[in-house]
Order: sequence, then C-alpha cells, then structure tokens
Amino acid sequence: MTERAEAIAVRDLHKRFGALEVLKGISLTAREGEVIAIIGGSGSGKSTFLRCINMLEVPSSGSVAIHGEEIALRADGHGGLAPSDRRQVQRLRARLGMVFQSFNLWQHMTIIQNVIEAPVHVLGVPKAEAVARGEALLRRVGLFDKRDVYPAFLSGGQQQRAAIARALAIQPHAMLFDEPTSALDPELVGEVLGVIGDLAKEQRTMILVTHEMKFARNVASHIVFLAHGVIEEQGPPEQIFGDPKSELLRKFISSSH
Ligand code: ADP
Ligand code: MG
Repeated sequence: MTERAEAIAVRDLHKRFGALEVLKGISLTAREGEVIAIIGGSGSGKSTFLRCINMLEVPSSGSVAIHGEEIALRADGHGGLAPSDRRQVQRLRARLGMVFQSFNLWQHMTIIQNVIEAPVHVLGVPKAEAVARGEALLRRVGLFDKRDVYPAFLSGGQQQRAAIARALAIQPHAMLFDEPTSALDPELVGEVLGVIGDLAKEQRTMILVTHEMKFARNVASHIVFLAHGVIEEQGPPEQIFGDPKSELLRKFISSSH
C-alpha cells in the first residue's frame, strides 16, 4: 500500500512570546485520514501549536505545509504581515476548519448565517448553494431546526455543534479542534464528541487537542504528548495509554482519570 499524502506537515516549529519559548521545535505530520490527538498539561503549548498551524499565531521559526504547499511566514517583530503573506494566510485558512473551546460563533448572526458566512464572503460560493450545503450540514449535526436562531438561544453543546458545521462549510482539507468540550457542562460533552467521532469514522484528517482521554484513545490514530514545549512522547493510543515510557506522561495519564 502506498503511503497516504501529507495533509499537514509541521517542521521544527518554534514559538516565542517575548522571553518565553512556548514551542521548542515541534515536527508533526498528519496524513490524510489520520486523527491526531494532542494531550498535555495546561500551559504546555497545545493551543499555541494549533494556532500556529493556521497562523492565528505567526511562528517564530519553522514551517507549516498544507498538502505540500508550504507557508513560510516569519513574525517580523512589528505584528504585521505583507500583502502576499496575507493572501497566503487566507488560502491556508480556507483549507483548515478550526473549532475553538469557546465556540466563537458570531453572536449577531443566526446559525445559518454563521455557517454560510465564509463560503459566501471568502470563498465566493453563490448564496443559494451555500445555504443548501449549510442546511445539509446543520442536519448532520442535528441542528436544522435551529437554522434561524441566534447563538445566544442555544445550549453550549448546540453552539459547539453549530461551530463544527460552520468549520465544515468551507470544505476543509483538515479540521483543527482546540478542547472542543472543555467549556461544556458534563451532560453536553457526549453530543459534541459524538459529532467529532462521526467525522473521525469518515476518515477526515483532524488534529484534536483534548482532555477527554477515553475519547482520544478511541478515535485517534496517533497521540502526541506535549510537555515543556517539545513532543515528550508520541505513538499509537495502545502504546501511549497502555505502555507509556516517559515519566511525565505516566504522571499526566494517572492524574487525568
Ligand atoms: P495550553 O493550550 O497547552 O494550555 P497555551 O498554548 O495556551 O497552552 O499556552 C502556552 C504558554 O504560552 C502559556 O505559558 C501561556 O501563558 C503562553 N501564551 C499563550 N499565548 C500567549 C500570548 N499571546 N502572549 C504571551 N504568552 C502567551
Ligand atoms: Mg489551550
């Protein structure tokens, strides 16, 4: 069998905030259809890593390639990006669907408006087509009947499912999830994990930061444990949870039950 194509390839990524070096050389490849779960303690750089992949944070050094197209931006120290870089970032973001811990739906737009915003205004999809596709996505996440409702009227679990539909609406090459269930009341976690689990079964490429160890074990093809800005240990779930080598990882796993 030939190896599947590289969907996301991160090479030697460093990220500094002033004197604080949060990421100290991370390299990671997600092949098509792979589900990579990133685990690690609070403050270990998980969110920063995801944010660097879609350039919500500009890496201090290193590179990110999406389907072989390398995005080589450098923080220029002035906080700005050149116009050519901005176009590159727009293209990159159009390929990656991101879901945040805090949903981040646009509060002044209805659910369907949230879902069609990027397809219509960034990707130029005709509105009727975007609505039809958006409605199909809302059906999939069980929210068709909420299409004309504003986010404030939804539960956290419903908002997060809407955010997932919105991320899928750009037809991304890969999905990035940053602790998608951490802000939810416990009884709402299952409905969101259910949707993400379905996406994993469809062999969507995903990088998922999560504290849900059981879920990570069940859906991920590969687990990455971040500690102190480096990949401390990585491997298939059976190995990471069943036979962890690193002392830090062992401590982390026993503390997260
Ligand atoms: P995690 O998601 O694993 O909890 P983060 O990536 O959010 O960790 O943060 C890693 C470290 O980087 C923390 O010490 C955090 O305070 C710091 N950090 C994150 N974002 C910024 C920022 N924009 N400016 C300064 N420090 C930051
Ligand atoms: Mg985080």
